[in-house]
Amino acid sequence: MRKLFSVICLFAFFNPTFAQENSGRQLCGLTGENMKGIRQQVKENILMLKKQGKLQFRQQDIDIARQTALLEPQAPISIRFIWPLRPKNAEDYRYYHIGNYTDLDSTGNACVRDYNGGRRTYDGHQGIDIGVGPYSWARKKAGDVHVVAAAAGIIVERHDGEFDGNCDWDNITGTTNRGNHVVILHADDSTVTFYMHLKTNSVTSKQVGDQVQAGEYLGAVASSGRSTGPHLHFQVNTSWSDPDDDKGTFVEPFSGSFNYTSSVSLWSNQKPYNEPGIYAMETHLGSMDYYTANCDSSVNLNSLHNSFQPNQVVNMRTHLLDWVDGSQVSFGLLRPDGSAVGTVAGLTNTCSYLTPVCGNNSVGVACRLFLLTGSYTLPSDAQQGTWTYWVNFNNNITHHYFTVDCLATQSFSGTQGGHRGYIVSNTITSTASISSNSNNDITYKADNYVLLSPGFVATQGCTFTANTRGCVNGN
Ligand SMILES: [Zn+2]
Repeated sequence: MRKLFSVICLFAFFNPTFAQENSGRQLCGLTGENMKGIRQQVKENILMLKKQGKLQFRQQDIDIARQTALLEPQAPISIRFIWPLRPKNAEDYRYYHIGNYTDLDSTGNACVRDYNGGRRTYDGHQGIDIGVGPYSWARKKAGDVHVVAAAAGIIVERHDGEFDGNCDWDNITGTTNRGNHVVILHADDSTVTFYMHLKTNSVTSKQVGDQVQAGEYLGAVASSGRSTGPHLHFQVNTSWSDPDDDKGTFVEPFSGSFNYTSSVSLWSNQKPYNEPGIYAMETHLGSMDYYTANCDSSVNLNSLHNSFQPNQVVNMRTHLLDWVDGSQVSFGLLRPDGSAVGTVAGLTNTCSYLTPVCGNNSVGVACRLFLLTGSYTLPSDAQQGTWTYWVNFNNNITHHYFTVDCLATQSFSGTQGGHRGYIVSNTITSTASISSNSNNDITYKADNYVLLSPGFVATQGCTFTANTRGCVNGN
């Protein structure tokens, strides 16, 4: 069995205190060996559908596949994929991270190698594991990360009803290793994609033989089958044209120098190997709750708070993804009038990543998940209104807002610009204009309602968000 080791990254920039954070890298037991049963089922279903004359792809999908084959004849398949996950609701931050790629090490021993020459995989893994976060079990419970078809096709296998809270490697619950899943055969009549570990009773009501479009809902991310935490196992197999003879071989869709299965990217828009970003920015009242929920236990995050009083301590925490060599991070606080707080104390960070299984891990070393924390004691005369907690990670600035003496109402007119947020406990009314500038990023949050009256304009290029989670409900 593989083991996870936590390793601490040292950042010269900070004077850190270290604490262990869970790695966020879920284990998935779907090796080629463990996929045998489902491949057999897929084979039988394809043969059955062919016999019944039900494998009729849409002509436009067949045409796209033919066109792709002409454009990139060196590719192993003529299907291109969109990202197989989509958040159910609008998200302020990143909602996923890639835990494992396919294992492209062919030496036959216990070594591993991903498409980039790194070791973000495990021995015999034939798919891509995409984790969700930063609170994976809370997301699993909410079912708020949806799995979607990566390309158009026909469902050739589906299964639902299995327990979806597996976390104990030695005690997997369910009638199969594979959990709840959907498998799609695509319009080249050769490529199949597998979507594994889905949430109980979340699987699409469509049945084997039904058509799906690219981006169509298939289920929600969970931890059914051989899995130790919520993630999607997405797998691409090819050579199913004549499944009686060939049960399919796996293909790694990411293009990179160590991918011997494909010389081109099979994504319509390939994501980078390292994708630095922010999972969440938070403020806490009192000592911060750490998310220690393993398995499907309830999540205790009672310290999360967006509304403060003078003299209280504001504890700040940001969950960062993919720290690589050369990354830079800084943060600070702005008062409601825009002035900066001079010193924010108590910085801590934590970092975990997978230690190489063997060999020299010189490629792709990164801290996958780590925390940046700080605290600030509000003075007795702290300014009333909305404060801004900002983090600059590799020149991308992200903001989180909290209030001091939550205002009841606020109204705006004229021009608003820059990165600004407003939180009130009752209503926000606005006739303001936000011009077409990507630096203009304005957020309105009110407990009761946000009223945009005639005259309000938000032009293309700006970012405007309004919601009704204000300083009381948003705590
Ligand atoms: Zn997997």
